[in-house]
Amino acid sequence: MSESKTSKIVVRVAASVITVGVLWLLSRIPGLLLWLGNIGSTFWSHLKGTSGLPNWGLYLLVLTAIYAAINLISRFKKPKGPKVTAYNQDTFLGLIWRWSYISGHPHNPWAFCPYCDTMLVYSEHVGHYRIKDETILTCETCNREMLRHEGDKNYLVNKIHRQIDRAIRTGEWKTKIESSTEQ
Ligand SMILES: [Zn+2]
Repeated sequence: MSESKTSKIVVRVAASVITVGVLWLLSRIPGLLLWLGNIGSTFWSHLKGTSGLPNWGLYLLVLTAIYAAINLISRFKKPKGPKVTAYNQDTFLGLIWRWSYISGHPHNPWAFCPYCDTMLVYSEHVGHYRIKDETILTCETCNREMLRHEGDKNYLVNKIHRQIDRAIRTGEWKTKIESSTEQ
């Protein structure tokens, strides 16, 4: 028999000995049992009595009980699948993007190097006449440019946001999680 099993049994025996002892002590107090019996019968007659509750109060009670029951059942029925917040990484435009969640909504996606996982730095080339805005993401560790994308940084981040949003809405995120855990 293992040590933890023996100590569990010792604790149980001790607890039952103490319970019996306390009950015996209580039974030695004169009038206590009679008093307890009185309380019991008073409570029982109270339970058997009717209350002058108005009908709206009665309906409210019944509705509350039904609502609570439905809530309880749906809680047990809910499948224990992965939470959407487990989907916090994906590959877009050849880069790794990671983000967090704020009250269930994806927040602040940012890019990481696909080779060394360094957080990328950005620079914006603001276009002038006939030249478009451009955002350039660079890896400082690999010392190379990882992405050159049209539009400013906000446009790029919002574009990734829309991709994440799409994957969540279509349910595609579940297969993406599965494939990332298989790797
Ligand atoms: Zn790198």
